[in-house]
Amino acid sequence: MTQLELAKSGIISLEMRLVAEAEGVDPEFIRNGIAEGNVVIPANRKHQISQYCGIGKGLRVKVNANIGTSPDYGDMATELEKLRVAVEYKADTVMDLSTGGDLTAIRCAILKESPIPLGTVPIYQAATETIDRKGAIVKMTADDLFRVIEEQAEEGVEFMTVHCGVTQSSIARLKRQGRVTDVVSRGGAFLLGWIIHNDQENPLYEQYDRLLEIARKFDVTLSLGDGLRPGCLADATDRAQVEELLILGELVERAWDAGVQVMVEGPGHVPLDQITANVQLQKSLCKGAPFYVLGPLVTDIAAGYDHISGAIGGAIAAIAGADFLCYVTPSEHLGLPDPDDVKEGVIASRIAAHAADIVNGVKGAWEWDKMMSQARKNLDWEEQVRLSLDPLRAQRVHGQHTTTGVACSMCGDYCALELVASFLGTKPDECL
Ligand code: SF4
Repeated sequence: MTQLELAKSGIISLEMRLVAEAEGVDPEFIRNGIAEGNVVIPANRKHQISQYCGIGKGLRVKVNANIGTSPDYGDMATELEKLRVAVEYKADTVMDLSTGGDLTAIRCAILKESPIPLGTVPIYQAATETIDRKGAIVKMTADDLFRVIEEQAEEGVEFMTVHCGVTQSSIARLKRQGRVTDVVSRGGAFLLGWIIHNDQENPLYEQYDRLLEIARKFDVTLSLGDGLRPGCLADATDRAQVEELLILGELVERAWDAGVQVMVEGPGHVPLDQITANVQLQKSLCKGAPFYVLGPLVTDIAAGYDHISGAIGGAIAAIAGADFLCYVTPSEHLGLPDPDDVKEGVIASRIAAHAADIVNGVKGAWEWDKMMSQARKNLDWEEQVRLSLDPLRAQRVHGQHTTTGVACSMCGDYCALELVASFLGTKPDECL
């Protein structure tokens, strides 16, 4: 049985217990969330991992890191290094988005090494293999696509992005809409080209039951992709985006009926004042299914700093109810991320997720900040470093300029914390 089927039967699985333990909640809370469809645990029965994560309502906001080669750059060693960095800086999941090199070998190596759930976008492999064998993506058959999906499921991939909502109807809506940046999703672009060229319906939509059968067999969590997500602020929350979301909402219910865990992907580029409405729309149309947002980026002009733009959007989205943040790296829109970009992206998204956890009342989030404040008051540098999201960086920055006293090099002898403690007669530990 899948985690969803177990939960609906009233059974608490080992994975549910482990997630409950990590979240500090009752296992029954996790079971109930999965049964209701508002929590997923990506857990392919073919892949042993040591860090399961629950994604959804009432849980800590999770962070995904995308890794993977491009046709021009990247190799297995680099991708494994990116995986190591993502895990070191505590991404909750990784996605292998490779489109260059031996895709199966790279994915299997990542699966072997990864202690956290792995996601993929199978159409990348189906499309690149079709180009190699037949010369053009449009020659891909439904069987080509489903064969790759089944192979990846059999290998142990925990969740898959499937762009089932790019259909003839949503493409027609897109054409009538008129956009600044049309389609920016790679999977969405592949499918749009295939549908228009062949004048046929998207196999992932038309043969959705076939997809559900594979997902159920291995307990792959479906991540219904937003192939028509806005690629710029001017295209945000337009009719094409909403048409796709309406379709995804219906597919969510069909997944639940088939015993398949499912979440929904969301935009993209969204102005600050539309983010909350986007989350509410998804939650309403998709009946509370977990929402996996890609950023969202709150401005189009932050090239080189899009991890900051994405973290701002991610924090707002997570406060509004988004459950899962796909990181954005400083190289977004500019090039393939390297391991340093992966680190920057994970840290930025973790700041966003944690900022939301604090106000969402997630257990332990507020207490973590309070411990840091106490350490600051105490001028306890060791503890401050330990409590930092990036201890190595905190240690390096603090240590680069030494001082004669215990205060840091910012104010030295004029340290406000030291001065006030001496005038108030407070001892550090008594101050908070
Ligand atoms: S020296 Fe200034 S910045 Fe450093 S701990 Fe004291 S008050 Fe804070």
